[in-house]
Amino acid sequence: MLLADEPVSMLDVSIRLGVLNLLRDLEERLSLAILYITHDIASARYFADTTLVMYAGRVVEGGDSETVTQKPAHPYTQLLIASAPHPERADVAAGRPVLETAAEPPSPIDPPEGCRFSPRCPRAVERCGTSTPPRFELGNGHWAACWLYEGVEGSAEPIPELEASS
Ligand code: SF4
Repeated sequence: MLLADEPVSMLDVSIRLGVLNLLRDLEERLSLAILYITHDIASARYFADTTLVMYAGRVVEGGDSETVTQKPAHPYTQLLIASAPHPERADVAAGRPVLETAAEPPSPIDPPEGCRFSPRCPRAVERCGTSTPPRFELGNGHWAACWLYEGVEGSAEPIPELEASS
């Protein structure tokens, strides 16, 4: 197993793809399992079969990389993807503001009660600040730890992405 922690984040864009392809080649030739850690969700989609999204020390969403990046379910994942520059995305093309969230990221030594994203979540409800959500299965191995999915488990379609406020 190879632990690759931000292996391309400090590299020039022109050689990132080459390094990722080298890792993929090693994976196939040596039958390696690679744990790829990154803040760049676009490269995770390109490189990884499965993506797990972490927030403040907890895994909040998981599934195959295509589903997690194309149909993000957890509000944090949705904000993460909406924050990444993409010229073809509708809100960018229309000149609408990129999604924003309030408050600072929590302290890892004193995280918030309940859902750790609750102080910053645009969709938080009352229970979010006191009760930790379990994983809710959304179908085909895709899941999210978010109270919004209570009662809709097994749904193939995650809730719509958050709308950018103007
Ligand atoms: S559990 Fe509540 S606060 Fe946490 S991501 Fe879901 S809606 Fe937001």
